[in-house]
Amino acid sequence: MIVYKFGGASVSSAEAIRNLYAIISEREGELFMVVSAFGKMTNALENLVDSWYRGGDERFLLLGRIREYHENIIYSLFGKGSDVVINDFNNCISAVESKLRSSPSRSYDYEYDQVVSLGELASTRIVSFYLESRNIATYWADAREWLITDDTHREANVDFTFSLKRLRNVVSKAGGRVVVTQGFVGGTRNGATTTLGREGSDYTAAVAANLLDAGNVVVWKDVPGILTADPLFYPGADKIDEISYHEAIELSYYGAKVIHPKTIKPLQNKNIPLHVKSFTDPAGSGTIISDRGGAAELKPVVIVKNNQMLVSLTPKDFSFVVEDCLSRVFAVFFRHRTKVNLIQHSAISFTLCMDNSGRLTGRLLDELRGDFRVLYNEGLELVTIRHYTDHCIKEHTSGRTVLVEQRSRNTVQFVIK
Ligand code: ASP
Ligand code: MG
Repeated sequence: MIVYKFGGASVSSAEAIRNLYAIISEREGELFMVVSAFGKMTNALENLVDSWYRGGDERFLLLGRIREYHENIIYSLFGKGSDVVINDFNNCISAVESKLRSSPSRSYDYEYDQVVSLGELASTRIVSFYLESRNIATYWADAREWLITDDTHREANVDFTFSLKRLRNVVSKAGGRVVVTQGFVGGTRNGATTTLGREGSDYTAAVAANLLDAGNVVVWKDVPGILTADPLFYPGADKIDEISYHEAIELSYYGAKVIHPKTIKPLQNKNIPLHVKSFTDPAGSGTIISDRGGAAELKPVVIVKNNQMLVSLTPKDFSFVVEDCLSRVFAVFFRHRTKVNLIQHSAISFTLCMDNSGRLTGRLLDELRGDFRVLYNEGLELVTIRHYTDHCIKEHTSGRTVLVEQRSRNTVQFVIK
């Protein structure tokens, strides 16, 4: 069994979906496909949830745009045969539509999952219909029925034991047809929809591969593989041909966007290689992540995270920053689902670097203001260089104001204005 994961960019238009078909038709052996929401639909659905919570009628306009985007893709893919698929799509969207007619009744995180999951539910239905129309026998599997999670909405934890039983059932029902299932989406044992955290479809693919003892996972991306830097900012970036699980997990942890940080563990545990390939150049060699690694391990790799905030916290009562104080601070971050990207502390203050998520970050800081004097800087960049060299450091920092620097044997990080 092989597992393919198609992210939003690889299914952002009718043309992209035709290309997906071309890739699938070259497959060898049994295939399990994990598909994301079309294009930027998850962002659009997040805006829809926000607008619903704000009240007013804007939400119907936003939903209308989401409907139109999907319908255009359907018309373009199916032409005269669109009716059946349009009806099917209407069934998907009507559940959300009727929800939006009344006010949200449960927690934000719960409602978010019920609404945002529409992106993947709809995309997989449409892709599955399309492959069928091109004579590829498919089996549409509802991830809410096989990817069983706890009820931590928006960041659900997978129950591997329970999911295994359900997934075996899916594969046996599929009977050799191509399985098409949603990334990012799961379900609790009680049947509530959950999601795994933004960009979580890679993780879904890794979990499925782990449970199915797959031979290989391919993540189809809009880049030729893992690169030594973001080609948008550094046109000279090189592709890395081979990299170890260890190095890949470090890179994704520091913010390399190619794969979701949780993806590696389920694969490493079963020694399943992960292949990152370009959907626009399927014959290209891509990057292979496995236990072997490669010479590229020693090349400098640069990861830039934008929109960072540097927050410094000083206890109001002038107490030392000791363990119990640290754990209190981290508990607040955990409650607000905010990850700390870098931390430095002295006797009576901490400095933390984190992603600035606007309103959510505002709430987090308000809570911290109970016990701490809070100062912050916004609009910063966090630059991480693995396997740094003096030359590489100079290239990325010279002439810029470095607010914090942290260096270990393999990695250096700079918070830069
Ligand atoms: N559609 C979800 C997101 O954009 C999951 C994914 O694409 O991995 O976050
Ligand atoms: Mg996506």
